[in-house]
Amino acid sequence: MSQKETHHFQAEIQQLLDIVIHSLYTDKEIFIRELISNAADACEKLRFNQSSGQPVYQSETASGITVTTDDKAGTITITDTGCGMTHGEMVENLGTIAHSGTKAFLKQLAEDKKPDVGLIGQFGVGFYSAFMVAKKVTVLSRSFGPEEQGWEWTSEGMGGYDIAPAADLPRGTKITLELKDDARDFAKENNVERIIERYSSFVPFPIELNGKRLNTVQAIWARNKNDIKEEEYNEFYTFIGHDHDKPLFRLHFSADAPLAIQALLFVPQRNFESMGMGRIDSEVNLYCRKVLIQAKAKGLFPEWLRFLKGVVDSEDLPLNISRETMQDTSLMQKLNKVLTGRFLKFLDEQSEKEAEAYEKFYQEYQRFLKEGIVTDFTHKEALGKLLRFESSTLDKGKMTSFADYVKRMPSDQKEIYCLLAANREAAEASPYFEVFKERKWEVLFLYDPWDEFVMEHLREFDGKPLKLAEKADLNLSEKKAGALSDDEAKDLAKWLKETLGDKVGEVRPSQRLVESPAVVVDADKFMTASMRRIMKAMKQDGPDLPAAKHDFEINPAHPIIARLNFMRQKDAALAGSVAEQILDNARVAAGLLEDPRAMLTRLNSLLEKVLAKE
Ligand code: ADP
Ligand code: MG
Repeated sequence: MSQKETHHFQAEIQQLLDIVIHSLYTDKEIFIRELISNAADACEKLRFNQSSGQPVYQSETASGITVTTDDKAGTITITDTGCGMTHGEMVENLGTIAHSGTKAFLKQLAEDKKPDVGLIGQFGVGFYSAFMVAKKVTVLSRSFGPEEQGWEWTSEGMGGYDIAPAADLPRGTKITLELKDDARDFAKENNVERIIERYSSFVPFPIELNGKRLNTVQAIWARNKNDIKEEEYNEFYTFIGHDHDKPLFRLHFSADAPLAIQALLFVPQRNFESMGMGRIDSEVNLYCRKVLIQAKAKGLFPEWLRFLKGVVDSEDLPLNISRETMQDTSLMQKLNKVLTGRFLKFLDEQSEKEAEAYEKFYQEYQRFLKEGIVTDFTHKEALGKLLRFESSTLDKGKMTSFADYVKRMPSDQKEIYCLLAANREAAEASPYFEVFKERKWEVLFLYDPWDEFVMEHLREFDGKPLKLAEKADLNLSEKKAGALSDDEAKDLAKWLKETLGDKVGEVRPSQRLVESPAVVVDADKFMTASMRRIMKAMKQDGPDLPAAKHDFEINPAHPIIARLNFMRQKDAALAGSVAEQILDNARVAAGLLEDPRAMLTRLNSLLEKVLAKE
C-alpha cells in the first residue's frame, strides 16, 4: 500500500501507554466500557452536529453501537455509526495520549456557548485501555463530513501507528481488537454480554451484541421527574433491585452544588437483613454520565444506610478512576455527605406526608437508624428526629416523635422521659412509671433493647435532656398522706439497711411511689438494669461483672411498709424475711433477679406463716 503512512508515538506517550496498560485500571474488562463510551460519545457528537444543521454523510443511518465477537479468531469488534474521524482527527485523537478530542470538543462548545451534550470521556486515555488486552488494534473510520473519506489506523501499541486510506466505509468507526493470548476470554459472547450489561446498560444509544439488543432499560434517573410514569419507576426498580415487590419509598433528585448529582434511590418493602439473610450490602451503583463507575459503591453512603438500592450519577467523577482509590477520595466523602443529608431530609418529609408508609418503614428499618445514631456522630440530630416510640399518653400501637412529645410537655417539665420495658404492659406496671402517672407527665415507652444505648448517644433532643424514668429525680406532685411519719420512715430505712446489709446500697424513703411498696434504683448513675443485662449477656464467658449495688427506696405510704415497721418490733425474724422478700420483689420488677428459685424457699415459709394464722 503506497499511501500508508507510519507515525511514531512521542517518547513520553510510550511511557504513558505503559501506565495505562499496567496500572491505571484494575480490571482489564474496563476496556469494553471505555470503547463503548467512546462510541456513545461519537453518536452524541453526531446528534449534536446534525441538530445544529450540519450536512451529514449517510444521514438516514441511525446512531447505534454494534459489538461482535469471534471466538475462533480471538477478536472483538466495536462499531458505531457516530461522527467518525477524519485523517487529522485520527492523528490528533488517537495518536496522542492525554489529548482528549472530547475535551477539545467540549472546550469548543463552551466557547461557542452551545448547549450541553452528554459526553462521557474527558481524560483522553480510555482508548488506550484497548492495549491492555489487544496485541493489535485496527480502527476503520469515516467522518460524517460528506466530503471526507475513510481511513484505516493500526497499531500494536509499541512505537507508533500506521494510517492508510480505506475505501467504501460507512459513516462511523469500527474498532477491531486482536486479543492477546491471555485475553481471549473477551472474544467469548457470554463474557462480553455480562460486561456490557454491567457497565453500559444505560448508555443512551442502542447496543447490539452479535445481533442481540442489550440495553433496553433507560437511564430514567437522568430524566425529568415529571415525565416519568409510576410503572417506569417500578420497572426500573425491578431491573436494578432484583426485587419483584414495589419499593416502599423512592427518592429521585438532582443537585448542582456542591456536586452535580442525579440520584434515584429506593427503599425495599422488606428489610432483607431481618429475614435471616445475613448482613446486606448497599446496592447503590455509582455512575458517571450513565456509565458504571462502581457497582455497589462502598463509601457512597454510610454503612447504616446499606438497605438502599438505586443509582447515583455524578458527572464530577473521573471515569478512569480505579476501584480501590475511589473509596477514600474526598470527592466520595463529599458525595456521601450530600446524599445522606438529602435522604434523611426525605425521610423526615415522608414521615409527615406519608405517615402510614413511614410507619411501615420504621417497623422494618428502625434498627438501621439506631445504628446510625450509635456509630455515626455526623447525622445524630437528623436521625433523632426520625425515631418513634409508644407513649404513656397515647393509645397502644400509636407512635410519636420526640418533636411531638416536646410540643406536649408542660412548661415546668424540663426533661424528656423514657422508660425501658419489654412491652406496654410491663411499662405501665413498672414502679418507675408511678410518679409519672400521678403527675400526668408523658413518658415514652422504649421496648427495643438497643434503645438504652441509643439514648446514651443521643443524650438530648432539641436542647432537652433525655432521661431514663428510673433515673429521674422526681417526687409525686402531692405528698401522700403517709402511713409512716418522716421520722418513722427514716428509722425503718435504717433498720432495713442493717438487716439487708451488703445486699443493698443506700436505703431511703421515697416520694415517687404510689402502688409499689419499694423499688430498687441503680446506685450507678450511668448503668441501668437493662444495660447491666446486656453487658452480662455479652460477657457470658468472661469474668463476672462486679455485683450491682442497688439503692433501695421504700414507699412510706404503702400498707406493707407500715406493717413491716410494726412487725419489726414484734417479730424481728419474720420482719427480716419479709424485708428480703420485698427486696427480691423489687428486683423482679426491675428485671434483675437472676435465679428466682432461690427465693422460693423463703416465700413458701412466709406463706406457711400466713396460713397458720387462721
Ligand atoms: P476521551 O474519550 O476521554 O476523550 P479516549 O482516549 O477514550 O479519550 O478517546 C480519545 C479520542 O478519540 C476521543 O476524544 C475521540 O475524539 C476519539 N475517538 C475515540 N473513539 C472514537 C469513536 N468511536 N468515534 C469517534 N471518535 C473517537
Ligand atoms: Mg473515552
